[in-house]
Amino acid sequence: MGRQTNLQKLTDGSTFDLIIVGGGATGCGIALDAATRGLKVALIEKNDFSEGTSSRSTKLVHGGVRYLEMAVKKLDRVQYNLVKDGLHERGLLLKNARHLSNRISFVTPLYKWFDVPYVFAGLKFYDILSGKQNIGHSRLLSRKEALRRFPGLKSAGLKAGVLYYDGQFHDARMALSLALTAEQHGAVIANHVAVSGLLKENGKISGAELTDSLSGENWQLKAKGVINATGPFVDQIRMMDNPDTPKIITTSTGIHIILDKRFAPPDTGLMIPETEDGRVLFVLPWENHALIGTTDEPAEVTEHPQPLDEEIDYLLRHVTRYFNLQVNRSDVKAVWSGLRPLVSDPEAADTAKLARDHVIEDSPGGLLTIAGGKWTTYRKMALDAVDHAFKQFNLAAPKPTCQTEQLPILGSADYNEKGDLELINKYGFDPDIAAYLNRTYGDQASKIAELTLDGYSARLVEDHPVLEAEVLYAARYELAERVIDVLARRMPLALLDTEATRQAAPRTLEIMAMELGWDQQRCDEEKEWIETRLNKGI
Ligand SMILES: Cc1cc2nc3c(=O)[nH]c(=O)nc-3n(C[C@H](O)[C@H](O)[C@H](O)COP(=O)(O)OP(=O)(O)OC[C@H]3O[C@@H](n4cnc5c(N)ncnc54)[C@H](O)[C@@H]3O)c2cc1C
Repeated sequence: MGRQTNLQKLTDGSTFDLIIVGGGATGCGIALDAATRGLKVALIEKNDFSEGTSSRSTKLVHGGVRYLEMAVKKLDRVQYNLVKDGLHERGLLLKNARHLSNRISFVTPLYKWFDVPYVFAGLKFYDILSGKQNIGHSRLLSRKEALRRFPGLKSAGLKAGVLYYDGQFHDARMALSLALTAEQHGAVIANHVAVSGLLKENGKISGAELTDSLSGENWQLKAKGVINATGPFVDQIRMMDNPDTPKIITTSTGIHIILDKRFAPPDTGLMIPETEDGRVLFVLPWENHALIGTTDEPAEVTEHPQPLDEEIDYLLRHVTRYFNLQVNRSDVKAVWSGLRPLVSDPEAADTAKLARDHVIEDSPGGLLTIAGGKWTTYRKMALDAVDHAFKQFNLAAPKPTCQTEQLPILGSADYNEKGDLELINKYGFDPDIAAYLNRTYGDQASKIAELTLDGYSARLVEDHPVLEAEVLYAARYELAERVIDVLARRMPLALLDTEATRQAAPRTLEIMAMELGWDQQRCDEEKEWIETRLNKGI
């Protein structure tokens, strides 16, 4: 459904069961859970779906090897449950979003003999905790085998390695697909619409004040309950309810850099078990490039955090330490930064040690806030939030229990892993394009392929498999409203290659202007906005 249709449904005076504020992993997950139970749901996102933290993750579907270590060392039940839930949810996500996710093997290089039994035992325990959702068995690797699996690895002093398995996914498209699947189940979804205030009747929240971020128009929307799922911004919404409420969120930034694919083999990642500040670091193959991250530095809440030079240097320093290949700043093709929404503990000074678990809070005014957690556990968070909302807001629905455990996400139901061959045979695509379309759109790929026949078959930019037809598809069917919505979130280009994005922007703008009827002023604003984003953080 198009944006205008959705906005009309939000302005026709009807009362919703739930307004969900925030279109990241948490909000999109909640919208899907609530809509599939039969609730009348409005999902409101002030920017684009997943424009916040949810498109800037490491893209791992994991229990969290590091949290397991903390759980065992400190006999910490919260961390232990977080890992266990994460491993269970990992299995479900890999099944329900098959086209957007994959299993990936990791090599953990070990340079000290006494680390070998410690790391191996830890990863074996990780396997055991995944129970029925186990996706592969960890095993020891000889020095030679570790080097064969990850050829760029520094060989001097290497003693052995451990191989283990986790999941990997395309976070931005996952959030969008959750929102679009929710829409298929009746939710009204709106990006570029902000919640600018809360409505109250007799001291209780009765809806929200909405502002169209593109036109500036304001209106009111009534609902039985409002769920605040705004990640790093939850305190802003909590303060709309009660200006004196103490903050519950602390944020830290994490950046990623993208290097050429020669830094990571196509099917194996590297887990560096101990950085100079005692964390883990990943080098992953992602979309035919190498993704390296992440950092963890306390930060202020801001919409588009800009990566700092020292953060980039930190990552490059670790790559140099673990690789035989030389690397420097000119090798970095793209860099982006995300804010971790951490439920704060006033006692803890080090944000790396704050729990990544989620909390649900009810305010006396009736605002339900959900904060914390991680991408991998979005479905469990949604389930908890909607169960809670039923009681808190006295809701009734045809299906009062969660329906998402085995629900395929849009694109996944009839996904065929070998669908790229059909695309090559039927449309004559180059193999890289066919593989990309198949894994990005799943069983919807033929719709983009059909649009190529209308004269949109060209690549948007050389050396990347992204097509002009995708721009048209994104504007027509996927609620893309800005050029950067397409280049950074409908396709992964802006996260992979800043220069290529700059080159692709004019044609993207041209297609969107034609499809969405933009005038010259709007086109000029878009030109400026994309340059700002590419220079100051996506
Ligand atoms: C560097 C980094 C790496 C990570 N890696 C992983 C990983 O590999 N695997 C994993 O499982 N997890 C990972 N995480 C965690 C995961 O990304 C987050 O837990 C998750 O994305 C948070 O989603 P969210 O929806 O709560 O927040 P967000 O994605 O930030 O979404 C909140 C949304 O609310 C919107 N909003 C704010 N105010 C308003 C308003 N007034 N009106 C309407 N909308 C509003 C924002 O625009 C935003 O889109 C990582 C996090 C970081 C920072």
